[in-house]
Amino acid sequence: AMFENLSDRLERSFKILKGEGKITEINVAETLKDVRRALLDADVNYKTAKEFTESVRQKALGQEVLTAVKPHQLMIKIVHDELALLMGATATDVNIKGNPAIILMSGLQGSGKTTFSGKLANLLKSKRGKNPLLVACDVYRPAAIEQLKILGEQIGIPVYAEEENKNPVEIAQHAVQFAKQHGKDLVIIDTAGRLAIDEAMMTEITAIKNAVNPQEILFVVDAMTGQDAVNTAKEFNERLDFNGVVLTKLDGDTRGGAALSIRSVVNKPIKFVGTGEKLDAIDIFHPERMADRILGMGDIVSLVEKAQEQYNEEEARRLQKKIAKNQFDFNDFIAQIQQIKKMGNLKDLASMIPGVGKQIKDLDIDDDAFKSIEAIICSMTPKERSNPEILNGSRRARIAKGSGTNIQEVNNLIKQFDQTRKMMRAMTSGGGKAMLRNMRR
Ligand code: GDP
Repeated sequence: AMFENLSDRLERSFKILKGEGKITEINVAETLKDVRRALLDADVNYKTAKEFTESVRQKALGQEVLTAVKPHQLMIKIVHDELALLMGATATDVNIKGNPAIILMSGLQGSGKTTFSGKLANLLKSKRGKNPLLVACDVYRPAAIEQLKILGEQIGIPVYAEEENKNPVEIAQHAVQFAKQHGKDLVIIDTAGRLAIDEAMMTEITAIKNAVNPQEILFVVDAMTGQDAVNTAKEFNERLDFNGVVLTKLDGDTRGGAALSIRSVVNKPIKFVGTGEKLDAIDIFHPERMADRILGMGDIVSLVEKAQEQYNEEEARRLQKKIAKNQFDFNDFIAQIQQIKKMGNLKDLASMIPGVGKQIKDLDIDDDAFKSIEAIICSMTPKERSNPEILNGSRRARIAKGSGTNIQEVNNLIKQFDQTRKMMRAMTSGGGKAMLRNMRR
């Protein structure tokens, strides 16, 4: 799978924090040493890896302590967010404004430039209603023109080529004229690549750029090439000032270095990824989703997010006082239930807790479990809710009737409530305040 080794290594580094009660300078430093090594082994740029771990360190130590969240879970969330940020935070769209809009493709030979030109034309035609023209500007490899023509045929998109012309600048200019005359609102120019960066290639593509003035230049790079991909990107960017990066062959056994470093080194967004040889193997690049995939712990990330959203210090303190004074009542009880419900589907929520997921999969818990509890509490008078002691036999019978339940269910609930109250009181008086807060989640 993609970035498999990196994912495994990161997961292992978080284990250092398992069982730790809180985040400290020492256990964070230890964890991040592992994280950094994992990044370097995935071929992430040295400076990028260093800055990354430093940023995570600061965020981890500055984090407000959430007792609902364990240190290793919090660390996973921070690393996740930082990974997404490193890759650009949000997806960046390709600029297809203009008539015709002109997209110039650049990159080394074998990077997947020609294949991607076809994929992009196909995507913008089917998803964005464009009427594209593909242009073959690789005049050195006769097979390149043929390759593009075959691609064009497969997706029903015309290909402009001039087999006899050896001047790619002219071909590009003619193609734009052709597009205007034939109502094509998008021109995608595939250019020649070399096996390595050379001056002639750079001069040529710069000349094409100056001649047709594309509003979008994409740089295509093979993700499998790691650090080399980053260096190549740097050189192309210095010459072309391109608008975005296309990472191809992400379906292969890539370590992840290119995906993670390019953005921070050249300061240009990754816009697309290629995930196979087929023409529909193209994806818009979503940094957030990529971070999810790298960590493979999306469940923990959402758990922490929800806890952070729900956490309410003031409410926690108010409840603690009530419990200490043995004033926890049915109003608080129902407020707690509503809070839990707000956090989403119960089963989803429970399955997010690491280790719990599998066990409860076949169990039938759903939000309905709360329905009769809520009905019973709602059938109590305000006085009964705040003074559960007064709930005698006749009151219980009335409540059962009013809530459409039976006396046994009412008795059970009151018994449960009493037990909960006793347990809470025992915990708050026994220095178990933190435990109580944990339980509230
Ligand atoms: P160009 O020289 O830059 O135009 O590269 P090509 O488009 O000819 O691609 C070179 C090789 O990489 C071809 O065999 C493609 O089928 C293959 N290729 C391109 N994109 C991808 C991709 O996303 N995944 C995989 N696995 N192969 C790809």
